[in-house]
Amino acid sequence: MMSTESNQGEANYPACIARIAQTLGRWDGPIVIATHADPDGDALGSALALKRALASLGKATHLPLTPPRYLSFLAEPDELSDPLRVLPEDALVAVLDVDVGPRLAGVPVAGTVVSEAAFTVVIDHHGTNNRTGNLVCVEPRRAATAQMVKDIIDALPLTWTPQLATPCLTGLLTDTGNFRFGNTTPEVLHAAGDLLSYGVAYSDLTDRLGWRHPDYFRMLGKVMSTVTFPLGGLAALAEITQAMRAEVGPTDDDSNDYVGLIRYAEGALVALFLREEPSDDPQPRTKVSVRARRGVSAQAICVSLGGGGHVAAAGATVREGLEGTKALVLAAVRAELVRAGYDVPEA
Ligand code: AMP
Ligand code: MN
Ligand code: MN
Repeated sequence: MMSTESNQGEANYPACIARIAQTLGRWDGPIVIATHADPDGDALGSALALKRALASLGKATHLPLTPPRYLSFLAEPDELSDPLRVLPEDALVAVLDVDVGPRLAGVPVAGTVVSEAAFTVVIDHHGTNNRTGNLVCVEPRRAATAQMVKDIIDALPLTWTPQLATPCLTGLLTDTGNFRFGNTTPEVLHAAGDLLSYGVAYSDLTDRLGWRHPDYFRMLGKVMSTVTFPLGGLAALAEITQAMRAEVGPTDDDSNDYVGLIRYAEGALVALFLREEPSDDPQPRTKVSVRARRGVSAQAICVSLGGGGHVAAAGATVREGLEGTKALVLAAVRAELVRAGYDVPEA
């Protein structure tokens, strides 16, 4: 593997972004853009914006990504591809919104992509990123990977178009909860203002991002009937099971939607959403989504469960069934509440 270059903190961020823009701009071979499994608005938005920017510079680009139904309107079908079994010859792999590890999707043998690629660039805003790659820019002070991609596109010899700005703004919108979360800095709003000025159809975009299939609302009813308030009401917990899926049929069941609703339960410092994952192998898996406030770290809870994310929003996939996962999660939440100085009633 080639040597690794990485930004170490805010001071080196502009240089790191410039270096990435220069590397991408000079790359003659194909560029593969990859992001995390279960892509959200930032994963798809940042990847699509970067792909379109590089394609307009004449690069051969690949975006092996399957969006959830509610985001698929953003991309033209021919812009996305199935997962790549092998990397093209002389490929630069740009890894967005995730690290080189098991959550990386669309590229072969996720864990070894760095040795198979000619060059690997990592662009992410998760502090828990493992910083593996040839050129790594991780900046937790950026609200979204799309904000970092905007900085990269600004550094490329390109004119902004609505086709570039719309997916970029989508990443900012979705990762800030429509500019409501604590990551909504003045810089985020300035970046959003720039993107709007490039011709985004804003109310059409925000309206379209809210559309869900009717089955989603049927599932929402079932999910809301599972809500409990454990740990003396300091947590709100909801779940989705395989049995519920069998009844309603497959839905997008975006964890962000459900956990985003129950996080407003009065008195709850932590919102938890557990999703029993479909699994062919005998080992069950449960996806955990955590949102937290007031000194409680969702990141600490999820790191202790083998996952990662941000202080206010984090996730993990636990190799246990729903009930086993629930016990582990509640123990981790209790420990974090105690660490943060809250009195937690005994179970
Ligand atoms: P989610 O609950 O899936 O919306 O995820 C919340 C945040 O945590 C997002 O920023 C995710 O990228 C991150 N995240 C979710 N699952 C994991 C995981 N297994 N490992 C690391 N980060 C995760
Ligand atoms: Mn993401
Ligand atoms: Mn993100």
